Amino acid sequence: MSDSPSTRNADDLEVPLVDDRSYRYWTLPATSTADVVTTDRPGLRVLLVHDDSVDKGAAAVDVAVGQFQDGDLPGLAHLTEHMLFLGTQRFPQENALDSFLAAHGGHSNAYTDLEHTVYYMDVQAAQLEPALDRFGSCFEAPLLLENCVARELQAVDSEHGKNKQSDFWRYHQLTKTLLGQHNSHVYQQFGTGNLESLQPQGTAVLRQAVHDFYQRYYHTARMTLCVLGNQDLDVLQGWVEKYFGSLPSQPSDTLVEPPVPPLTPVLPQRVHVVPTRETNVLELQWCLREIQSLYRSKPTRILSHLLGHEGPGSLLAVLRERLWVQELYADDSSKTTSAFSIFCVQLELTVLGWEHVNDVVATVYRYIGLLQNEIPAWVADELQTTASTQFRFLSKSSPSDTVSRVAHQMQEFAIAHVLSGPYLVYEHDMAAVQSCLASLHVDNMLVLVASKEYTGQTTATDPWYGTQYATVALEPDALEAWRQARSAATDGSGVDFIGLHLPDRNDMLATDFELKTSPYAVFAKTNTNDSNGDNGNVPPPPRCLLDTDTCRLWYKPDTEFRMPKVNIMCVLRSATAYESVTQSVLASLWSETADELCNVFSYAASMAGLHCNFSNTRNGMELHLSGYHDKAHVLLQRIVDTVRDFRVTPDLFERIQSKLEQQFQEFLVAQPYQHAIYAGDLCLETPKWDIHDRLQCLASLTLNDLQHFGRHILARFQLEMLVHGNVTASEAVQLSDIVLLGWRPQAPLNQIDVRVVQLPAQGSEGTSTVHRFSGWNEDDENSSVCNIYQVGTMDTKMNATLGLLHHLIREPAFGQLRTQEQLGYIVHTQVKTSGDKVKSLLFLIQSDSFDPIHMDQRIEAFLVDFRHKLVQMSEPDFAANVGALCQSFLEKNKNLSEESSRYWHVITNQTYRFYRMSELAAAAQTVTKLDVLRFLDRHVLATSPYRRKLSVQVFGQNHIADLLDKTDVAGDGIVLVESANDFRRSQALFPMQASASIEDWRLDAKDD
Ligand SMILES: [Zn+2]
Repeated sequence: MSDSPSTRNADDLEVPLVDDRSYRYWTLPATSTADVVTTDRPGLRVLLVHDDSVDKGAAAVDVAVGQFQDGDLPGLAHLTEHMLFLGTQRFPQENALDSFLAAHGGHSNAYTDLEHTVYYMDVQAAQLEPALDRFGSCFEAPLLLENCVARELQAVDSEHGKNKQSDFWRYHQLTKTLLGQHNSHVYQQFGTGNLESLQPQGTAVLRQAVHDFYQRYYHTARMTLCVLGNQDLDVLQGWVEKYFGSLPSQPSDTLVEPPVPPLTPVLPQRVHVVPTRETNVLELQWCLREIQSLYRSKPTRILSHLLGHEGPGSLLAVLRERLWVQELYADDSSKTTSAFSIFCVQLELTVLGWEHVNDVVATVYRYIGLLQNEIPAWVADELQTTASTQFRFLSKSSPSDTVSRVAHQMQEFAIAHVLSGPYLVYEHDMAAVQSCLASLHVDNMLVLVASKEYTGQTTATDPWYGTQYATVALEPDALEAWRQARSAATDGSGVDFIGLHLPDRNDMLATDFELKTSPYAVFAKTNTNDSNGDNGNVPPPPRCLLDTDTCRLWYKPDTEFRMPKVNIMCVLRSATAYESVTQSVLASLWSETADELCNVFSYAASMAGLHCNFSNTRNGMELHLSGYHDKAHVLLQRIVDTVRDFRVTPDLFERIQSKLEQQFQEFLVAQPYQHAIYAGDLCLETPKWDIHDRLQCLASLTLNDLQHFGRHILARFQLEMLVHGNVTASEAVQLSDIVLLGWRPQAPLNQIDVRVVQLPAQGSEGTSTVHRFSGWNEDDENSSVCNIYQVGTMDTKMNATLGLLHHLIREPAFGQLRTQEQLGYIVHTQVKTSGDKVKSLLFLIQSDSFDPIHMDQRIEAFLVDFRHKLVQMSEPDFAANVGALCQSFLEKNKNLSEESSRYWHVITNQTYRFYRMSELAAAAQTVTKLDVLRFLDRHVLATSPYRRKLSVQVFGQNHIADLLDKTDVAGDGIVLVESANDFRRSQALFPMQASASIEDWRLDAKDD
């Protein structure tokens, strides 16, 4: 097979330095209707990836078709995407692909873009062949049945319902409409689709349209395939030939489709929008030439790099100093198409910034003027260097992420650049940069300003999202001021541009990439541990280097990935961060402020691939650093010095305070399902501070309070720290010394104990606990239900049983509640952990069509039905599911960050169970079907007196009347929770667990 003249091992494919995969690229010849290989039809372009180390295989197909091809049925490409996996000629059962994948530790997904539709799946490596059989058949001959079309249309409609309140989607559609409306360009069309856009003529016509769309566009000339597995390339190639060899193809001479026309908007334009959130946003969009074909020089990347810079002298730094702007994003790549591209600068304004919005625009133009004058050559060189370093040491991502990205990249880049194309700058082309820069001018601009202040002043409504807006005339004075700011000749706008300048050279670029070796035998890669049994592929866990009342230091040299990178994770343990609502808000303010104070130097570090950020948790304050090891200690020292001095001006405090207020407000209008989860936690966990109380508290806090809090936090804490990566043990100690010597903490006096409410058992009357409330966002039509079946704290065997039950229930729940019943777009199940240790089974649904009581009833009916199916499940099927679950427990880490996160999880919850996953896998092997049935009967089914159930029910706009109906019928088998806070205080709590010993994990001299 490999000798066929059209195949080749992709030796000329540029790969990362650290890449141990092998590749093969070729075009699989098309077959005619008589199954004869034909040369007058373009074949399928295929890239195979062999990777010894993966435990999952994966495949992805990119079809070069998308919303631009919708024609007169907006959303048709998206609906076709939804239809493709619902039964095929060879596998007619509707969920054949997904149930096979679920039983073997895999999943599938897809997305539809303007010009591409990408499908991908993953599965246990050993099951790749049968999975490819099913996956391939979806492209070869999907059934596209009419009754499925009718149901998936509901799913598409609910998906749109979920997006309707999102400002992101609203601005996206509105700006598309405004830019595309001239000449009715296809860019203006509504891409997601809904009932109204897709079903003007009934389901039969729609089914025919889906079928025609598939016939016209789903053929090999438009497709690329990427398959990744741990099998030999020859084996993979054989499977691809077998399962993708008969895909539809079309003769070359019939393939001419009209190209997408260029975008010719009427500009400049200004539009005022009423947002759903309490935010003020300014978005500037410029229409540019097509840039995809210029990927070798990437002319717009340098522009987004400079305009989006956050260091001293940057646009953002100067606008923040004026208190006009919170955040600024420059985006050159997300709106690129084959015919044009859109360059976008988005700014989150303060109230003051909104009042000065014309001055903000002028400042942007002043910076563009600076770039017009000169972009020094070293800036381009620096970008080229950081990009090539990034690609050289690119960490692996999961198999499914890899194939879905690569399949798409095969459509955009020359084959040699399929992997490196998105990263590398192959050549400089300053003329192209200047030409793109020339397009960033006043008369080529769309200005969108969003503010609640425009309520009542709008003149138009977007037909799909209901966005209220008004197109307004641009004042000649403002236009002239912007032009002058850009030309840089005079400061005619009257705005003070002092301080604006190009960035300094980056002093955080890594130059030392040498790998270090650890002298400690305990970190040898072949190490196995008693508790870890015969499972040799679990990497040796971290060891405790220091353990005092102010510092517990965990250290693990990288034994797996051989990258010049390090992850440093710190928690400053202190009750101060969460012991009252005030303290919790101060902790949020402090971590936001610390991040911004450090941004002066940390932004340059992040450009050089070294990232850091603060956050606050119930345990205390956390600081994470990750990236190249070379300058990590320099960055840590700067952070420690800066935070110790904590020089906060009243202006900065005020800006951070309003930034946090915006974040809190944003959560109040988030998706109803997020509120359902949140309210569940509020009922169950203590302490847990209510967002409404936190918001109220925020307004009363002063800079003085924050300074006081900061001194308290740094005065007393225990540092618990993980240093994992390319560092020696003594370097790890030096890193902890930077923190301890810089902040000189005393031991903390106490720590927060998170406790969890034990829900009342429902007893013989079957009384369950229900928490009902009306949706927080009055404009949101969606309702949500979150059912929590609480089990409790548990040993490893029971934990494995719960894991297996969830593994068995996940796909049937989706298949029944989403695909069959179309309850809503979001149907989700998981094993939930409350506090650190209390486990539950969770069901979550969000719907714009059904009320929460109905959703709850359908979940209960599903559970009864599921029990029947489980009883009937054959032993081999059951065993396959156990095997899949074990494999998911034993899934290897794909990169250093994933490995660090696993360690950090058991360090922060102080269980130090580093072998937890392999223990669970061993326990899962012993779980029988009877064990699962007993577990289900006792903890989950309505007939059990021992069941502890909480149903959180959020009533959205479409169902609020139902809630008002139900308020007086409590007692009917339910206990209604009126206030989560009162409920929590009145209930029994699970007992505290003893703290875990770290004795087994000390690194002593004898380990040497
Ligand atoms: Zn979708």
